[in-house]
Amino acid sequence: MSSKIPVGILGATGIVGQRLLSLLDQHPWFEPVWLAASERSEGKTYVEAARWRLAQPLPARFAGLTVQGPEPATCPTRVVLAALDAAAAARIEPAFAAAGKLVISNSSALRMHPEVPLLVPEVNPEHLQLLERQRTGELGRRGGGAITNPNCSTIGLVLALAPLARGFGLRRVQVTTMQAISGAGYPGVASLDILGNVVPYIANEEEKMESETRKILGRLTRDGIEAAATQVSAQCNRVAVEDGHMETVSVELERKAGLDEVRAAMAGFRGRPQELELPTAPAQPLILLEAADRPQPRFDAERAGMSVLVGRLRPCPVFDYKFTLLSHNTLRGAAGAALLNAEWLQAEGRLPA
Ligand code: NAP
Repeated sequence: MSSKIPVGILGATGIVGQRLLSLLDQHPWFEPVWLAASERSEGKTYVEAARWRLAQPLPARFAGLTVQGPEPATCPTRVVLAALDAAAAARIEPAFAAAGKLVISNSSALRMHPEVPLLVPEVNPEHLQLLERQRTGELGRRGGGAITNPNCSTIGLVLALAPLARGFGLRRVQVTTMQAISGAGYPGVASLDILGNVVPYIANEEEKMESETRKILGRLTRDGIEAAATQVSAQCNRVAVEDGHMETVSVELERKAGLDEVRAAMAGFRGRPQELELPTAPAQPLILLEAADRPQPRFDAERAGMSVLVGRLRPCPVFDYKFTLLSHNTLRGAAGAALLNAEWLQAEGRLPA
């Protein structure tokens, strides 16, 4: 136990914080030693503060930890995994970074900051170099810094797009999402709004998908990230599903390619986490399904885990190809993504001692 790297968790009581604790319970490298949340939870034991929402039981050794307020001075660790409400994150994450902590964040607050890498290690590992540029600014002047993972609907999309962008170039992307309720945190969407219903609006979600995708697929230059020229149009819907974001995607390629080439590019896609065999890395980031009516959230979200399931890959009469994808929003879309980023930084020797 003592040889593990101690980590703090900001927003430990929320949906994503709970997933983080669950994933960290048996983690070979990291040990959560400091849990923090809002004033509502501060001073309570974790079991009193968190409304535990996972099917897996709350790991007993975390139940009695006292939840702290979000003050850097009370946090003994250099590495902090953050799953804060976005408004709180905008204030708290920079304060932790400025205090010398490396913040590995799930929230949108710093994702589009020009010096903050928006990382999917299979897709844009070279963007990690941005971290060096934080050293002279507010975030990194005391040896801390911040990295982020994308929005829960963006991550499934960029993992599916990356092999197409690399292999053939991507001119245009049109995506429509059907997003699970757990993506809205707890208590999330009121039951009377969502039961038997589809809500065709999620505040700021379409803008996030469009801008984050272009940043992640963008190029690192001396002046920062140059966003990819790919045009992206997103339409986002909240549906009455517990976990798992489904997306229907149409793509126009720059270089024409046959269906078999596209299929092979997606199925063969691998990245640094697979090379390094990181503990949370899926063996295969993209899994292609053959059944005509899959993926489906009820049957496939849990088994997707850290992979993205892609089904119904076929020619598109308007663009070039279209397909359906499913990714688990609180695993690959949040807690698992942050943990994978932490593992990858550790494997690259980039975590503060
Ligand atoms: P959530 O269930 O609402 O949890 C929010 C967490 O932030 C709770 O621990 C809460 O503590 C804490 N918090 C709120 N205000 C705070 C404050 N002023 N000071 C300190 N802590 C505060 O939300 P979530 O779904 O876990 O999402 C967490 C973050 O991840 C959000 O930024 C979200 O956009 C992002 N994200 C979520 C998903 C997803 O699928 N759910 C996916 C990707 C990214 P209390 O319990 O004490 O209120």
